[in-house]
Amino acid sequence: MAKTFAILGDIHANLEALQTVLDDCRRQGVTDFLCTGDVIGYNASPKECMRIVRDELGCPVVKGNHDHYVSSEQNLNDFQPHAAFVIQWTRNQLSGEEIQWLADLPWSVTIPGITLVHSTNDRPENFGYVFDNLQAEANFLVQKTPLSFHGHTHCPMIYEKSMNGVFRIDPAEIPAHEMKLPVGRKYFINVGSVGQPRDGDPRAAYAIYDVATKVVRFRRLEYDIAAAQAKIRAAGLPERLAERLAVGQ
Ligand code: ZN
Repeated sequence: MAKTFAILGDIHANLEALQTVLDDCRRQGVTDFLCTGDVIGYNASPKECMRIVRDELGCPVVKGNHDHYVSSEQNLNDFQPHAAFVIQWTRNQLSGEEIQWLADLPWSVTIPGITLVHSTNDRPENFGYVFDNLQAEANFLVQKTPLSFHGHTHCPMIYEKSMNGVFRIDPAEIPAHEMKLPVGRKYFINVGSVGQPRDGDPRAAYAIYDVATKVVRFRRLEYDIAAAQAKIRAAGLPERLAERLAVGQ
């Protein structure tokens, strides 16, 4: 049977959003999962989200910058105080074994026809952001597979490379938020963020890719934002992290 992948990432310890997404995956006939990284950071349920991704999904996961900051000896002096506080708080929640799991995540995973990275195929360990066609072009120079999924900006986007150049397609603006990917072109697709969307739409985001039909579908789901916010406040994490969930920024 051909696979139907759910590609999800930037979960950022948001259990309420993750559970809502996984419920939707069951309804949508998803057979396999891929994770574009940043399982933890920002929100208040790192242990629970890690347990689901690692033990329940058991899927390929690449390392995001937050996964790296939490699991390395990264000096936090150069971080904004709020960011450093959350990274340290997350370190304190996780066991040594959980931190080691994050540390051992690969920067990139390739399965037939598909590469998974957190930021870009062009030196993923540098955490570069792809927001425009020029940055996407640098990615396409080193992207070996026809299709590559990523996250990091928390904004869903399709970058297409054909003989005519690089094009940027906003999934929010295409019919039914889905697209059949023609053979002979390359695609670098940002699946958005499960746990902290930043494209102005606060709903949890992920994507589904049907291998047989070559159709990618962009999903958005309302979830219990108030519950996620209450956990952030109860944990003593910065108020700004609760507020941004409501506006998707
Ligand atoms: Zn992120």
